[in-house]
Amino acid sequence: MSDFNDNPYFELFSKQQQNQFAIGNSTYKQRLKKLNTLQYAIEVTYRAQIQKALQKDLGKPVVETELTEIYAIIGDIKHTKKHLRHWMQKQSVETPLSMLGSSSYITYEPKGVCLIISPWNFPFNLTFGPLVSAIAAGNTAIIKPSEMTPNSSALMAKIIEDVFAKDEVALIEGEVEVSTALLKLPFNHIFFTGSPKVGKIVMEAASKHLASVTLELGGKSPTIVDKTANLDKAAKKIMWAKFLNCGQICVSPDYVMIDESVKDEFITSCKKWLKTFYNDNPKTSDSYGNIVTDKHFDRLTSYLENAKTLHATFEVGGETDRSSRYIEPTIISDLKPEAKLLEEEIFGPILPIVIYESLDMAIAYINSKPRPLALYMYSKSKKNTNKILDNTRAGGSCINNSVLHYANHNLPFGGTNNSGIGKSHGFFGFRAFSNERSVLKQHTFGVTELLFPPYSGFKERLAQLTIRWF
Ligand code: NAD
Repeated sequence: MSDFNDNPYFELFSKQQQNQFAIGNSTYKQRLKKLNTLQYAIEVTYRAQIQKALQKDLGKPVVETELTEIYAIIGDIKHTKKHLRHWMQKQSVETPLSMLGSSSYITYEPKGVCLIISPWNFPFNLTFGPLVSAIAAGNTAIIKPSEMTPNSSALMAKIIEDVFAKDEVALIEGEVEVSTALLKLPFNHIFFTGSPKVGKIVMEAASKHLASVTLELGGKSPTIVDKTANLDKAAKKIMWAKFLNCGQICVSPDYVMIDESVKDEFITSCKKWLKTFYNDNPKTSDSYGNIVTDKHFDRLTSYLENAKTLHATFEVGGETDRSSRYIEPTIISDLKPEAKLLEEEIFGPILPIVIYESLDMAIAYINSKPRPLALYMYSKSKKNTNKILDNTRAGGSCINNSVLHYANHNLPFGGTNNSGIGKSHGFFGFRAFSNERSVLKQHTFGVTELLFPPYSGFKERLAQLTIRWF
């Protein structure tokens, strides 16, 4: 451990390490109490301050904060409290007859000292969500939130300090260097939410200590609209999902693939719903937010410039204002394959429309890109829906909806390969922060002892018998 003496966070890490068994051996009731305290802090004590912090950082409308941050965390805590007793129980499993005289069970023991690194787009939800799973599973945790949303990070630091002792949960604010220093420490588990690019850095750092990882990453999530779909309903749901949080959502529909014959009708409906949601001028709408930082604003406007250079068609929007980091909800078609909007994860309020001539072409296009975090299908055809589900791979999917699979605590949430490793939410989050320890308990004389050396002819026959019959 002396290797870490000059690491600024080693002392804190060591304190949590010393405390890990006391925390890990906590009872169901003790963990419930912690969850209740955290719930009260978010739901009551700090609720108004959370709304204000998000307003400052992301211009987030209060209703969106209530639904996608406060309700999301409270829902998570309630679900965990309801099921925790059961999750914590030992699970008996069958023992083969060849091991007669013994019984077997799985116990979910905490991983130990965990690191949680979170992003800025839903700062509270994506920090407290993993934390709920970590403490439910009996771990200690050090949290590093995003530097992009400083008001939210400062408030989370206050909440954590209020609710937990430092040797159980601590939050460290700061820039990338903080993550870099923390990643050098031998954590038992690292739960990272962010981009695939940084996910690779995290995984490399974790490999030095063989720490297990959960990587909740992003990427380009396709939405397919076939010609049998209810186009107006599809447009309504896609407009909501795409422009919620200004498109800064990991499971946001990144681009729409649509059958050529219904494209114009779909775009007409999209325009209608955008007007209904955000009026004629979304800039003045209380229901629409802004881009998180100038850097992200510049990134997104460079995609728009690139699309203009390539003579794409701006179906809706395109207006921007750097001083308020405003980008109008924008829909673009006729993009060339090399357009930035079709290559990079957009993570902003710009929706490319890509035409397909056949579902096979749509499938080939999707499969030519890294595996997405989410894939959405709008269709009335079971055959078409199954064809898409059977011939693509994605972390999760909604059929005739978008984003909502994220909100069902009974579904595992996470990506596959480039969009992530491991799952979170509900039991799957509890499991991510647990080691499934196998225990075999010998009660009486075990028949396996009959096979111990020295090996005689009898034992050889017994071994053959075992292979054949047990
Ligand atoms: P990011 O990867 O830039 O940053 C995430 C966190 O990692 C931040 O706390 C940041 O400080 C830290 N970080 C940044 N660079 C680092 C480095 N070199 N070494 C160590 N740590 C570093 O991501 P972001 O911009 O905050 O979030 C956007 C990305 O996150 C998108 O790709 C989005 O799809 C993804 N995302 C995924 C989920 C999910 O649940 N799967 C949720 C939200 C966002």
